[in-house]
Amino acid sequence: MIIIVTIVLGFFVYIAYRLSFLTAGGAIASWLVGLFVWVSFQIEGIVLLCLFFITSSLLSKFKKKKKMKLKTIEDESKGREAGQVFANGGVAFIASAGHLIVPHPFWIGLLVASLAEATADTWASEIGVLSRRKPFHLLRLRQVESGISGAVSIPGSIAALTGAFVMGVAGTEFLFDHWWPLSILFTTAGFFGNIVDTFLGGSVQVAYRCPICKIETETTIHCNHPTKQIKGYEWLTNNVVNFLSSLAAGVLGGVAVLWM
Ligand SMILES: [Zn+2]
Repeated sequence: MIIIVTIVLGFFVYIAYRLSFLTAGGAIASWLVGLFVWVSFQIEGIVLLCLFFITSSLLSKFKKKKKMKLKTIEDESKGREAGQVFANGGVAFIASAGHLIVPHPFWIGLLVASLAEATADTWASEIGVLSRRKPFHLLRLRQVESGISGAVSIPGSIAALTGAFVMGVAGTEFLFDHWWPLSILFTTAGFFGNIVDTFLGGSVQVAYRCPICKIETETTIHCNHPTKQIKGYEWLTNNVVNFLSSLAAGVLGGVAVLWM
């Protein structure tokens, strides 16, 4: 069985790599996370992971040209890298490893709620940047350029809530035998994690300014020049913030399962 799973997953991540949804490193990372999720949570777990991965990948390709014009956004045309895969799927990996060592429903809650947060965050970013109105920064209390961490928009927030809801409901259906009250708790945990992400993103997350075009960015190189750090801690990148917020949501989801 494990050999079949390994080959089937390998085939799928290869397709994702060829479609440039993933870089080579991102493909290997996805394959590793997928393998653990499948072995630990069987077909239900992998279907949930695929639901996150496929919807997020398709959304990132949606209105690509319009997004490419936004200078604040990193060029992701090569696909998601290993760091981005672990930022969103790292908690799913921990949940799978934990469930293999000490099987417990807590890990299933950790898995579902962390993926609800990752989905909320990805959908919010992909939809939010397309908003006609500039987003509102929750800490600077004013409108900022699209793509700056810490800012929210109405379409982005609706997308976040919808993403968390879809994963909360799907996770409950697949892994908790349609026990619907849990889906509300997972949706809440996922959306809460997304708020944590916004606040960390707007405060302690590292940000730089490009000396050429003067724009605020998350990359260390912009307009072919090294950028200057303007806020946050150097190690607290967007990936670290994504990981921490999906962990926060996941722990909340795990505790919800214990409490129910
Ligand atoms: Zn620049």
